[in-house]
Amino acid sequence: MNDHITPIVIVGARGRMGKVLIREVIASDNYVLLGAVDRSGGPGIGQDAGRLAGTVEVGVLVEDELMPRRSAVVVDFSLPQATEANIRRCRDAGAPLILGTTGLEASTRAMLAEAAREIPIVSDANFSVGITLLARLAALAARALGDSWDAEIIEIHHKHKRDAPSGTALRLAKSVAKATGRNLADVIRTDRSGTAAEPRSDGEIGIAAIRGGDSVGEHQLLFLADGERLELGHRAHDRAIFARGALRAARWAEGRAPGLYDMADVLGLGAL
Ligand code: NAD
Repeated sequence: MNDHITPIVIVGARGRMGKVLIREVIASDNYVLLGAVDRSGGPGIGQDAGRLAGTVEVGVLVEDELMPRRSAVVVDFSLPQATEANIRRCRDAGAPLILGTTGLEASTRAMLAEAAREIPIVSDANFSVGITLLARLAALAARALGDSWDAEIIEIHHKHKRDAPSGTALRLAKSVAKATGRNLADVIRTDRSGTAAEPRSDGEIGIAAIRGGDSVGEHQLLFLADGERLELGHRAHDRAIFARGALRAARWAEGRAPGLYDMADVLGLGAL
């Protein structure tokens, strides 16, 4: 790492991820906290961001309006309802955007692609290095095994998570589908309830979402065949892994050409 310091603005500052991001920025010499934003009218507005995150005072007050500047990277882990306004503001200011929010609507994803013609955007449903590699391994395995092996995904998350299946499970399913020439929308199956339900059809990719407790995130990808089963999996023990990945992406995005990137780009994995 060089000794350049990357200025960061965090959106969703009062959230589970926002607080971890603030702590990681404060703890590192590579970043400086320039701004922290959360929902208008919510608690925490006007408080010191460091104190809010349970660490030292940093002299940055949590604001209720995102006002990006070209010189700082915006790291947004908030809610999908906030994403479109945040994309617009980053684009207008010329500020790079690291977007961790999941559960985005198709219209929001289209806006993201449009804005990425003008600013660098790194968007990923999972900023952990382990999951980024798991998605790559999933594609390699699926390509080698072909679609005669049944691919199924199990994901477990804490009881507060709103979207299901998780963005990461969808991404793993997409990796498998793409590697075997299938269109995920045609083969995804997220519900097998009902007494008259059809048995599993060939080529289907099933996802089971489990919610409970404080699980930070577990993903298990099973390839099932007659007589054997391959299992690939990842367990997140600490939210800090997503924050560290997102901050690594922020450093990578600084000064980069406009484009829509993901964590595989940040890790230099290249196209498969
Ligand atoms: P959370 O509910 O704890 O926090 C969300 C925060 O966003 C809250 O403080 C809320 O007040 C704030 N917020 C809501 N509307 C806002 C607005 N208009 N402007 C600014 N802030 C606003 O949620 P969380 O667990 O911190 O997760 C946040 C998002 O990040 C979710 O979409 C989650 O799925 C996603 N996530 C992504 C990754 C990844 O690696 N990509 C990892 C973990 C979580």
